[in-house]
Amino acid sequence: MTIEFSFSKKHLEMREGIRGLAKSVIRPQALAWDRAGGIPEDFLRNMARLATSMGSNAMTSGLGDESDGARADLADAGDRKKKLGANLFGVLAAEELSWGDPGLLLCLPGPGLGGPPVRASGTPEQKKRFFSVFKDLHDDAAPLQWGAYGLTEPAAGSDVAGIRATCRKDGKHWVLSGRKCYITNGARAAWTVIFATIDPSLGRAGHRAFVVEKGTPGFSVGRIEDKMGLRASETAELVLEDCRVPEENLLGGEEKYVSKEGFMTAMKTFDNTRPLVGAMALGIGRAAYEYTCEFVKKNYVLSRPVPRYAAIAERLARVGRGLEAARTLTWRAAWLADEGEPNAKEASMSKAMAGQAAIRACIEAVEICGAEGSIAKDHQLLEKWFRDIKVYDIFEGTGQIQRIVISKRLLSDLKAF
Ligand SMILES: Cc1cc2nc3c(=O)[nH]c(=O)nc-3n(C[C@H](O)[C@H](O)[C@H](O)COP(=O)(O)OP(=O)(O)OC[C@H]3O[C@@H](n4cnc5c(N)ncnc54)[C@H](O)[C@@H]3O)c2cc1C
Repeated sequence: MTIEFSFSKKHLEMREGIRGLAKSVIRPQALAWDRAGGIPEDFLRNMARLATSMGSNAMTSGLGDESDGARADLADAGDRKKKLGANLFGVLAAEELSWGDPGLLLCLPGPGLGGPPVRASGTPEQKKRFFSVFKDLHDDAAPLQWGAYGLTEPAAGSDVAGIRATCRKDGKHWVLSGRKCYITNGARAAWTVIFATIDPSLGRAGHRAFVVEKGTPGFSVGRIEDKMGLRASETAELVLEDCRVPEENLLGGEEKYVSKEGFMTAMKTFDNTRPLVGAMALGIGRAAYEYTCEFVKKNYVLSRPVPRYAAIAERLARVGRGLEAARTLTWRAAWLADEGEPNAKEASMSKAMAGQAAIRACIEAVEICGAEGSIAKDHQLLEKWFRDIKVYDIFEGTGQIQRIVISKRLLSDLKAF
């Protein structure tokens, strides 16, 4: 087993570029976007164009580069991803952008979380058709386009196997009924990958994944959530009422579903996106940690008694090493994905650890900065990071679920000896 990986010059140059952008352009606007509950479309368009000009669409496509419709007909995305190190680029970019503002990353146009299941399970025709929606980024007259991922339901979040949205075949269509909730960009998405079941009693084996296009009769937007954090990002409820979806929109075609493939489609998505979500959490955690270090340098070193400073330094050291350890796990999980190696355990480890390390960083920041840490005022982002961070231990599988996945994998690894 090899554990070595390194970044190419291109990776590092891109990271520097995004870091500069995050500092000079993104962070200064983060609080305003949070208060406005959204980000102006002109800004999103420019950011997405910039991402493409930097040589990869990983930022806007939720990993991988099929958001460029012109290239979507290339059948084997795996080789190209490996060559570009797209997953590693994704985690580097995600940490930097999230350091600037985590909401922005979720708002960027592109297939988003809908991208990985189409990439993993779509037929060549489906990839071409659905990714080509995003190719007009450079045409000012063309509307911005998003994709979305609809798995969660009011009674099925962690318990993915328990989804109740139904699908039944009727001639050349599938008829979908049910509700999906907390769907990032669901209200604005040109299409959403919707998971439904042919029979809830079949569990995972009954799952089917469909690409449901905006405007399909019977497909509508319900409530838009008023969230504690990530307020610039829109989260929507989606309603399916006898929604007739053409059979060509069943992801991968019928043969894909002879076994548990439908469920595996959902899980493959997580193997690629969990390290990315971990990296986003690390961006917020690092932001809070750096803020606290500056605060401590300014307020404690010369003016406060040494024993108290030593206790605070110890807390900072614990936060710093937690972030560093989680970052290494995250990079490794992404690197394994680029190598085409199984990474389900590492992906869960990276997300579980990054979420916790970043939450710890934000809690310590608010506590160490005292009252200053809890005040909402211009250019003071600490209370915003405190609100933003919690969801990173909830979406893409909660911390508890990650730990269950990890322990199952560890125990099955042990059986091999
Ligand atoms: C901002 C935001 C954006 C989101 N975006 C999307 C999206 O784009 N697409 C999408 O499909 N979903 C999305 N979600 C939904 C998200 O993935 C779910 O909220 C998440 O999976 C948890 O499900 P739940 O909220 O139903 O909580 P539950 O599953 O009900 O969990 C509640 C608590 O019980 C614990 N728990 C549950 N089962 C177990 C167990 N077996 N053992 C131990 N503890 C357990 C959980 O860890 C948690 O602490 C989003 C959510 C948020 C908040």
